Amino acid sequence: MINFQALSDKYDTPLYLYDFDHIKAQYERLKEAFKAKKSLICYAIKANSNLSVIKHLGDLGAGCDCVSIGEVNRALYAGVKNYKIIFSGVGKRDEEIKEALEKDILLINLESEAELYRVELQAKSLDKKARISIRVNPNIDPKTHPYISTGLHENKFGVDIDSAKRMYIKAKNSPYLDPIGIHFHIGSQLTKLSPIKEASKLVSDLVRSLKVLNIDIKFFDIGGGLGVCYDDEKPIDPYDYAQAVFSTLSGLDVTILCEPGRFLSANSGYFLTKVLYEKTNGDKRFVIVDAGMNDLIRPSLYDAYHKVEIIGKDTTDEDTKCDVVGPVCESGDFFAKNIKLPKTDHDDLLIIKSAGAYCFTMSSNYNTRGRAAEVAIEEGNDRLIRKRESFEDMIALEKDFLK
Ligand SMILES: *Cc1c(COP(=O)(O)O)cnc(C)c1O
Repeated sequence: MINFQALSDKYDTPLYLYDFDHIKAQYERLKEAFKAKKSLICYAIKANSNLSVIKHLGDLGAGCDCVSIGEVNRALYAGVKNYKIIFSGVGKRDEEIKEALEKDILLINLESEAELYRVELQAKSLDKKARISIRVNPNIDPKTHPYISTGLHENKFGVDIDSAKRMYIKAKNSPYLDPIGIHFHIGSQLTKLSPIKEASKLVSDLVRSLKVLNIDIKFFDIGGGLGVCYDDEKPIDPYDYAQAVFSTLSGLDVTILCEPGRFLSANSGYFLTKVLYEKTNGDKRFVIVDAGMNDLIRPSLYDAYHKVEIIGKDTTDEDTKCDVVGPVCESGDFFAKNIKLPKTDHDDLLIIKSAGAYCFTMSSNYNTRGRAAEVAIEEGNDRLIRKRESFEDMIALEKDFLK
C-alpha cells in the first residue's frame, strides 16, 4: 500500500507518483505474451517521458517509439540504444530527419510520399542508406474516442495501402532507402480486439505482396493503443492481443514491434492534490483543489474520466455530488464532474488515479503555474525524479530580454 499522506507531506502537492513495480509488471506481461516470436517493445515515450521512467523501461530491455527528435534524444540520454529507437510522426523537419540518420536509429517511420523524398534527400546528403518503415492507414474504425482514433482515412496519419505499395517500390529502387519495416497504429485506448486483428491482416497481406516484389519486410510494427481500465472498461488481454497478431502472420518471418504507451504507464500513476476549500454556487457544490488543468488536462481535453478518491475520510450515503475544480481561469478547469465526495476540509488529500500516461507530459505553465514534481516508488522506496518547477525556472528563457 502506498502511503499517500506521508508522500504528500514529504514532497508537497500537486504531485505525480509513479509505481515503477507496476510499470515493470505491465512490461513483463506484454513481453511474455509475445514470447513465441521475436519481438521488441518500443515504449511510446510521449505517454510519460520522464528520463527515469524511460531508463526504467530501457533497463528492462524496452526500446522507444518517438515522435520528435527531442524524444529521440531523451531516449538516448536515458541510455536506450539507438538500434532500439523508432521515429514516427506526420511532420518531421529536415533537421530532425538528418539528426535521426546521424544517430543511426532503428527506423524512421514514413507517413507520406512527400516525406519519403525528404528522407531520401537527407540520406543522400549524408551518403547513408536510411532504414525506413511506412505507416499504413488501414481505414479501420478502432471504436475509441475520435480525438485518439488514428487509423481512418479521415485522420491525418499514414498512407493508404496502395500508396504504401508505390512508396515501397520507390524506396526499393533508391540507393539511399532501405525499406525494412511496416507500421500501423489505429488509435489509443483500444478495448476491442477485432479492429486490431483486421488491421494486422490487411497489413500482413501487403507484406506478402511486397515479398513477391523482392521487398523483404523484417519489422512488423503493430503500433500501440492497448487500452487500460480508468473506470469499468474491460481491457484487451495481452495474450489474446499477441495471438490475434500471430494469427495474421503465417508464413512470415518478422520481428514484431509493439509501441505501447498508456498500457505501460497509465495505471502506475497517481496525481495528488490538496483541497483548498469548498463552495456552493446556488445548488452547485465545488471542491477547489491546488492543482489545475495545466497539470492534468485529460478531463478538459477529451472529457476523460479519472477516478478521484479522498484519503482519510469515509464515504457515506450522505455524501453529495460536487465538481472537483482547479484554480485556473477557465471553466474547463476540472478533474471530475458530479462525483460524490464527503464534506472536505482545507488540506484534505485527493488522489486522481490512472495518471501515469498523457498527464504530466501534457502539462503546461498556463497561468504561470510551475509544473508538479514527480516521484518514483520502487520496491517500497520513494525518490524524486523531477523537481517542482520554480518561478525562476519559468522565467529563465525570458528574463534576459527585459528592456
Ligand atoms: C501515441 C502513439 C503510440 C502509443 O499509444 P498508446 O495508446 O499510449 O499505447 C504508439 N505509436 C504511435 C505511432 C503513437 O503515435
